[in-house]
Amino acid sequence: MPIINRIAAFHEDMTAWRQDLHANPELSMQEVRTSTMVKEKLASFGVDEIITGMATHGVVAVIRNGTSDRAIGLRADMDALPIHEETGLPYASRTPGVMHACGHDGHTAMLLGAAKYLAETRNFDGTVYLIFQPAEEFEAGADKMVKDGLFARCPMERVYGLHNWPEAKAGTFLWRTGPVMAAVAFFDITVTGRGSHGAQPNHGIDPIVVSSQIVTALQTIVSRNIEPIEGGVVSVGSISGGDAYNILPERVTMKGTARWYRPEVGDQIESGMRRLVNGIAESFGASAELNFFRHAPATVNDADATTLAANAALAVAGSERVQLMRSPTMGGEDFAYMLEAKQGAYLMLGSGRGGNDPLLHHPRYDFNDEILPVGASWWASLVEQQLAKTA
Ligand SMILES: [Zn+2]
Ligand SMILES: [Zn+2]
Repeated sequence: MPIINRIAAFHEDMTAWRQDLHANPELSMQEVRTSTMVKEKLASFGVDEIITGMATHGVVAVIRNGTSDRAIGLRADMDALPIHEETGLPYASRTPGVMHACGHDGHTAMLLGAAKYLAETRNFDGTVYLIFQPAEEFEAGADKMVKDGLFARCPMERVYGLHNWPEAKAGTFLWRTGPVMAAVAFFDITVTGRGSHGAQPNHGIDPIVVSSQIVTALQTIVSRNIEPIEGGVVSVGSISGGDAYNILPERVTMKGTARWYRPEVGDQIESGMRRLVNGIAESFGASAELNFFRHAPATVNDADATTLAANAALAVAGSERVQLMRSPTMGGEDFAYMLEAKQGAYLMLGSGRGGNDPLLHHPRYDFNDEILPVGASWWASLVEQQLAKTA
């Protein structure tokens, strides 16, 4: 069974939904228009129940058929990023500084496609929960939905998610058992010195010099403290302080992210950062504050659920386009929280057009609409295989 024919028939609809979502992106925890659009579409498809309000803007559609009490969950994310879009597309973001640069517009459209198909055909025996999650990029919406009782209210055997992957050829599924995406933390560092005239640094404590030492020293956590085979990342993504030629500021602030797999390595990164940030600031007579907040644990695929997920991919794409992912990525994903609470798997679906495709979180990235029916068919196949009607 390649792409399900009935799903291919509404490729155009899915494309229109995706581009509408793309033009109207909303940041994490602000998905008001998006979740309203999702609810309206789901109601028009005739799903059996729509649960709202989980993690504020989360929506779960319930589709039941037959007599079996078996159930699975399918999850898409809905939020956009604080990026100023540079695609120049006719359906580019109408909200300056906000952009669907991670393809969550596509994930939402694909899951809507699966919902339309499943509500119409009901070729399964059991219950399907279609989970539209807010706040994947920031604020861990998956964790919020779990804490709001997702799995208690929607009892299911397994839960599945998928991310488009511009680094792989469009239509190719990548699977992997065990760790697939890294644990994520974000951090803020504030270095406070004493402001002075740029020509009289001896009267001040220069937080720019102190911050420079900190940025350099942070690189030694991964290269010198963590066991080399483990791997990790500490990246400072923003430094700001001062805005004049001849004034040394009082304060510098930095922001960044850290990634790892095993929880012990996360603890090592956090304690290493505290030691360096405080120690370096103190040694220069400055003071510093580190705020280290964990966004998501590592995303770890269950072996059995991954086999089932790969089987559904094989049915849709054929063996040549279902491949083992060589290594996990340092990208993060809050679906990890759902996989901590429930057996399940997270796959990548190639979306590359060939050439130099802008990658995820790039201002010229755009979701590849070609894969909409592929992803929707995968979700539908998961349901039809795992909740198969008995003859
Ligand atoms: Zn993202
Ligand atoms: Zn994403």
